[in-house]
Amino acid sequence: MVQRLVDSGHVRNEYTRQALLAVPRELFVDAPLKKVYSDTPLPIGSAQTVSAPHMVAMYTDNLNLKRGMVVLEIGTGSGYHAAVTACALKSLGGGVVHTVEIDRTLYEEARRNIERSCPPEMVFTHLGDGLSGLKEFAPFDAAYITAAVYEKPFEILNEVKEGGVVLYPFGLPNTVQSLIKAVRTGGGWAEGKIVDCLFVPVRRPWEGLPGFAPN
Ligand code: SAH
Repeated sequence: MVQRLVDSGHVRNEYTRQALLAVPRELFVDAPLKKVYSDTPLPIGSAQTVSAPHMVAMYTDNLNLKRGMVVLEIGTGSGYHAAVTACALKSLGGGVVHTVEIDRTLYEEARRNIERSCPPEMVFTHLGDGLSGLKEFAPFDAAYITAAVYEKPFEILNEVKEGGVVLYPFGLPNTVQSLIKAVRTGGGWAEGKIVDCLFVPVRRPWEGLPGFAPN
């Protein structure tokens, strides 16, 4: 599957190729192996999905990762994407991923999944509303959101250092959305669309999630 993604141009950086090879997707999703290694999104519980591998690859490539970076992920889900980012950083010589999940069931499951995969000591999981940022650990070298937002995610954009990349899917649920790449420059952000996409919508605390207790 990884070779097909390289051949189709979805994997551009060697660090992305190595990360996809290093993380066993079957540890993160409950599906037959044939499906696990097809390039499709898959259900992970709580009506959420893990992105297709080509989308995870596009994120990883576009984060412009470098050795030692501290990266913020909003939407841990199964933990697969965070593990891929961590493995990409590992192949570059090290770094850290902070990932925030709003759904307690997924958060607990992801912690277990990450423990069993590469490299758990590089991934810090947090329970809460990631869209309000993660001030204790800011600023970050890069950040990305794995659920669609319908407003500019200012809290996240503001927590990224000068020159850093923020990736986020923008658009309403069940419509064609745009994966946006924002680069922090001077007083603002240079933004551009990478590709059309379809992500599950972000969830906010006031939507009354079962098991969610704001901290
Ligand atoms: N990256 C994940 C899949 C993401 S699905 C993986 O590799 O499996 C989107 C995830 O974002 C879901 O788990 C959902 O619960 C979470 N989410 C939605 N809104 C959120 C918010 N405001 N803060 C943190 N997580 C959120």
